[in-house]
Amino acid sequence: MRKTSGSTIMALAGLLVVLAGCSEVGITGRKQLNFVPASMVTSMSVQQYSQLISESKLSTDAKTNALVRRVGERIVQAVAEYSKTRSDQDPFAGYQWEFNVIEDPQVNAFAMPGGKVAVYTGILPVAQSEAGLAAVIGHEIAHVYAEHGGERLSQGLLAQGLGTALDVALQKQPEQTRSLFMSAYGLGSQVGVLLPFSRVQETEADRLGTIFMAMAGYDPHEAVGLWERMAAASQGKARPPEFLSTHPAEATRIKKLQQEFVPEAMEYARKAGQKGPAPTSQLPAPSIFPPAIK
Ligand SMILES: [Zn+2]
Repeated sequence: MRKTSGSTIMALAGLLVVLAGCSEVGITGRKQLNFVPASMVTSMSVQQYSQLISESKLSTDAKTNALVRRVGERIVQAVAEYSKTRSDQDPFAGYQWEFNVIEDPQVNAFAMPGGKVAVYTGILPVAQSEAGLAAVIGHEIAHVYAEHGGERLSQGLLAQGLGTALDVALQKQPEQTRSLFMSAYGLGSQVGVLLPFSRVQETEADRLGTIFMAMAGYDPHEAVGLWERMAAASQGKARPPEFLSTHPAEATRIKKLQQEFVPEAMEYARKAGQKGPAPTSQLPAPSIFPPAIK
C-alpha cells in the first residue's frame, strides 16, 4: 500500500518535472526535457573538457588549428547574428567557445555543453574541404545549441528517479549522479570514451548543422558529400561513437539531407543574407586535407 502510494507520488512528481522542465529547441521547435540549469551543466563541462584536452595529444599544425578555429568561429558568429536579427536571446550567452584539434586517426569530433568542441585529425581526409569541415563543425555546434547534453542529463536523472533536486541527488547518490553528469558531456566511465547522442538528437544536429553552415556562407549541398564519405569511411570498421553509432542509417540520413535539410538550409542562408556561392575560393592548401583513405 505504502509502496503503491509512494510510486504514485513519484510518477506524479515525474509528470510535474516533465511539464515544468519542458523547453523548446530554437529553429526546430522540438520540445525537450531539460530542467538542469545551463550554467550548472556548463561549469562542470568546462572542467571535463579541459581534463580531456590535457590528456590528449593536440595537433601542432598551425594551419589546421587556424582553419578549424576559423570555421567554428564563423559558424558561431553567423548563428548568433541570425538569432539577434530574429530578436531571439543569444543562444550562446555565457559560452566560451573552444575549438581544438586532437592528433588521432579516429574519424571523429565531439562537442560538450558550453561551446567546447574538438576535431580529430582522422576526420580531415573525410572532410576534404573547408565546406566539408563546416558540415562536421556545424553538426557539433548544433549539439551545443540544442543543449543535447542537458537534455541527456535530465532524462537520465528522471529515469533513475533522482528528480530535479540535483543537490540532494549529489548528496544521496554521488557516484550515480556524477556518472549521469559525465554522460551528459558524452563521456563514459573510462577516460577518453565518448558516448553517442540519441538518434533524435543526431537527426536534429544534422538538420541544424546544415542550416548553420549555410548561415555562415558555406554551400549546404557539401554536407551531402561529407556524410556520404563518412558512410564510406565506416564500411567494415568499428564505428566511432559520435559520428556513426547511433546516427540514422546512412541511406535515411542522405535522403533527409537531400530532400529536406539542404533546401531548408538554403532558405536560412537567404534569410541570413548570404548571397552567392560558398567561399570555396578560401580552401586551404590540400596538405591539410589528405586524400581519402581507400
Ligand atoms: Zn552528433
